[in-house]
Amino acid sequence: MARYDIVIIGGAIVGSSVAYYLREQGFTGTIAVIERDPQFTRSATTLSLASIRQQFSIPENIRLSQFTLGLFRRLKEEFGTEADIGFREGGYLILATPEGLPVLAANHQVQQAEKADIVLENGEALSRRFPWLSTDGIAAGAYGRTGEGWFDAHAYLQLFRKALRGKAVEMVTASVAGIERQGSQVVAVTLDTGERLETGLVVNAAGPDGGRIAGMAGLVLPVEPRKRSVFVFEARERLADMPLLVDPSGIYVRPEGSVYLTGGAENEEGEEAADPMDFEPDWSQFEETIWPVLATRIPAFEAIKATRAWAGHYDYNTLDQNAVIGHHPDVSNFLFANGFSGHGLQQAPAVGNALAELIVHGAYRSIDCSAFGYERIAAGRPFRELNVI
Ligand SMILES: Cc1cc2nc3c(=O)[nH]c(=O)nc-3n(C[C@H](O)[C@H](O)[C@H](O)COP(=O)(O)OP(=O)(O)OC[C@H]3O[C@@H](n4cnc5c(N)ncnc54)[C@H](O)[C@@H]3O)c2cc1C
Repeated sequence: MARYDIVIIGGAIVGSSVAYYLREQGFTGTIAVIERDPQFTRSATTLSLASIRQQFSIPENIRLSQFTLGLFRRLKEEFGTEADIGFREGGYLILATPEGLPVLAANHQVQQAEKADIVLENGEALSRRFPWLSTDGIAAGAYGRTGEGWFDAHAYLQLFRKALRGKAVEMVTASVAGIERQGSQVVAVTLDTGERLETGLVVNAAGPDGGRIAGMAGLVLPVEPRKRSVFVFEARERLADMPLLVDPSGIYVRPEGSVYLTGGAENEEGEEAADPMDFEPDWSQFEETIWPVLATRIPAFEAIKATRAWAGHYDYNTLDQNAVIGHHPDVSNFLFANGFSGHGLQQAPAVGNALAELIVHGAYRSIDCSAFGYERIAAGRPFRELNVI
């Protein structure tokens, strides 16, 4: 029977970053990362939109993204001269109607206090900056001049996975089938292979399956898979310096090389958990919801057609659409890194580092993540992020 000091469940971006930063923070014990799908064909990490922003409504989320941005800026120092994730600092442009303006302006103040390089501009200024944009019905937009953009999610994940090779981290290909507890401690993880791994500590990094994994330990975590479809289209005209645009309707679009990616047509009102096996994109969204919005907002997109689509699952926290980070208050050797609700790719290094600090030093040192703790979940007290894209 094997024994590891730490077992991390899920080996995509969050699980890999936790393992990476444990070693960076000087953890010398044994670590196993359990991953059932080592090609990551269905993980949120590789099915995401691979973008990073500063435009959040709460300071803690901005700080987590800024940590990752700092890593992007010194990627070669950290991972070697070959390291490249194709980071394009194209910015986000979040538009608001007159009704949405107070929230956009309040968020902008929070972002400015965190020194994020975001400008708030009225319709006229936006038309000058982006001549291809129709500002009909738009009161203002918040634009990230630097510090926001998109990158290659596969390359980013592989950087961490490769870096782990030299760090004595056991990569186990299997599905976690059960978690054993003795009173208020988890003591072992059982695998679908029949193997049983004894452990001193478990980190839940199972993405959209985080709620199910917590359930195996007898714990309640309001995180479930929510399906999100992304569409690829081509357009005759190339729009110079196009940022990732978020329309007031929630529809987003950004360039990706010679094509464009779009989505955001899901209606969260009354939405239920996705079937964990359903990765079929909802094609009707493109014609019925997305195209009419894009054709109005960007007249150059009047005659577009989706050529390809995919669907992934958000790791959706139904309480407040924010991450759950840190120890379970009663089962103290079960740690959460869950519930990112659509912004976990950009937060993963920061959260990996924060959890490593908590495990190795007993406290957060770089970014205080206590506000993301499980205590709010237990109390049913939301810590809400308003900018969920
Ligand atoms: C369409 C879409 C667009 C997104 N866009 C962005 C974006 O632009 N920016 C951003 O920051 N975030 C974005 N996200 C969110 C982001 O992708 C996730 O928050 C992030 O990838 C979560 O990482 P993770 O490692 O926790 O989860 P995942 O990448 O899902 O990894 C979890 C891993 O756990 C494994 N696992 C689960 N259960 C078990 C088990 N029982 N045994 C063994 N292994 C198990 C899975 O196989 C999986 O590989 C997007 C998500 C989607 C779906």
